[in-house]
Amino acid sequence: MVTAYTALALHGLADPPVETLPQLAVTGRFQHRQTATYAIVPRRAELSWDDVAVLDGLPVFTPAAAIRDLAAHGGARFTDDLADYFTAIVGAAAGRPDRAAIVAAIAATGVRLDAPSSPLPPLLARKWADTASLRTAQWGLITSAQLQQQGVTRSDHKKLRNARLVVPVANGVMREADRPGEGVLVAAQLAWVAAVRDSTPAQRLAAPRPDCVITGTTAVAIHGLGQPGKGLPQLAITKERRNGSRTTTTARYLGRSTALSWDDVDIVDGLPVFTPAAAIRDLGQDSRGRLVDDLAGYFADIAIAAAGRPDRDAIVAAIAACGARLRTVVCDARAILDRVYRTAGVSDDLLAATIWGGMWQRRFTAERVQHIVATALSAALDTIAGRAGDDLSTVLVQMLERNGQARKCVVPECEWWAVEQDRCYAHAIQRRRERVLLDPAGVDSSTTPTPRRSGHGWWGHLDDDGETIACHECGERFRALTRTHLETHDLTAREYKQRHGIEQRIGLVSTEIRERQQHQVATNPRTSELFRRNPNAPRLTDLPSALLNDQSR
Ligand SMILES: [Zn+2]
Ligand SMILES: [Zn+2]
Repeated sequence: MVTAYTALALHGLADPPVETLPQLAVTGRFQHRQTATYAIVPRRAELSWDDVAVLDGLPVFTPAAAIRDLAAHGGARFTDDLADYFTAIVGAAAGRPDRAAIVAAIAATGVRLDAPSSPLPPLLARKWADTASLRTAQWGLITSAQLQQQGVTRSDHKKLRNARLVVPVANGVMREADRPGEGVLVAAQLAWVAAVRDSTPAQRLAAPRPDCVITGTTAVAIHGLGQPGKGLPQLAITKERRNGSRTTTTARYLGRSTALSWDDVDIVDGLPVFTPAAAIRDLGQDSRGRLVDDLAGYFADIAIAAAGRPDRDAIVAAIAACGARLRTVVCDARAILDRVYRTAGVSDDLLAATIWGGMWQRRFTAERVQHIVATALSAALDTIAGRAGDDLSTVLVQMLERNGQARKCVVPECEWWAVEQDRCYAHAIQRRRERVLLDPAGVDSSTTPTPRRSGHGWWGHLDDDGETIACHECGERFRALTRTHLETHDLTAREYKQRHGIEQRIGLVSTEIRERQQHQVATNPRTSELFRRNPNAPRLTDLPSALLNDQSR
């Protein structure tokens, strides 16, 4: 049953207080307890349908019952300012038919509704004035710990709140009431202050190393290079052991195994924020794509936004490094180039032929990808920024050619670009299967390889009739040579291939089975995106099913 603050908020009587989970009343001797989605408010008495209003199918306590529940069961645990809260409820209930019941329920709790805004005692007023410079340095924020260091006791906190000087914004953090704020910078400031509550900004900024720094999409947004994205501000912290992340009500902490350094930090209005390049490098740690959905598109937009900035080269280098390092599913370097070159006005056809076509080789090493992406981005950004650059299409073709010596597959009528041994990927695999390996017996087989017997078959040759392959050891034919079968010859697959000159990468399966497996991989929506060579080619799953059945037969 929904109760307490949550119920009152659902009835439209008050805002739910900060950082409280939905509250459910439960009969029984539970402790106060929180799960990920709700907090339990234990009740000894049975719950009764009399006290329940059903709102849109959801059983919610009536306001009066919720107030009783709140007062009876540790209201003080949730807020030490019930008087304020109840005053607001009485105000909001003014025109409601159940107003009398609500007022009676509040009266029964024994909480006195004080007159608002009592003047501060002179001593407290002086202490409050002493914190003025601290509050200015923290953009109007102040923590309970800092107030206590100034000799302000917990009961004094309440007086400050009653005097409408501060409002609570997070656990242990308050903001000056006349300084409301929104937006990514304000959220980041709150996150930074809430991260370390017992030191002053001066102490924290003078430390040899930063304790935590705004990073990720938050830092990029503060630098005006992108959208802040959804979710809490991101803070980088150094964490020795586990490289995980932790979330509080104000921030998402990204644990980093490397020590943070002031070299990477810009101070934005007193707030330490990673430079764009450092924030991008930090996003590159997100190797599972948890922070940004489309990391490649996000990086491309940053690059475009940074076209005219003085630190553009550092940003481009950081993006290229991430694009080369991250797995393609998380961030495809080609997708970064694609978006930037489209913005620079390069045609779809050229992109399909160069970046997405065979000129982009599967076997580019990470350094090559990094170099290509960095150079190509710089060229495109020059054009975007309006600086005279070379013709982009020639740049693109030249760069990929120089780095990859693009050639077409030598197999007649094959239109794919060569990726290895002058063949396209598919034909290179086929050749590998058929090639007779160099004979270790020492015969010079480089000119005309002479076939040599090996067991029941030929050295280096998998006898494949389409449906079955023959075992070199016993001569019998199987659809695949399983481990169980090879064990009868006391061999592992590795040893079998060595013994008969078959390359280790070749599977011991017949063409039929291999094709079926390839078909399964290609039609599986989870894997097909990974193995598509040409994004413009129709996906197998897009084809009419009649055609598909035809192919598999
Ligand atoms: Zn080919
Ligand atoms: Zn056998």
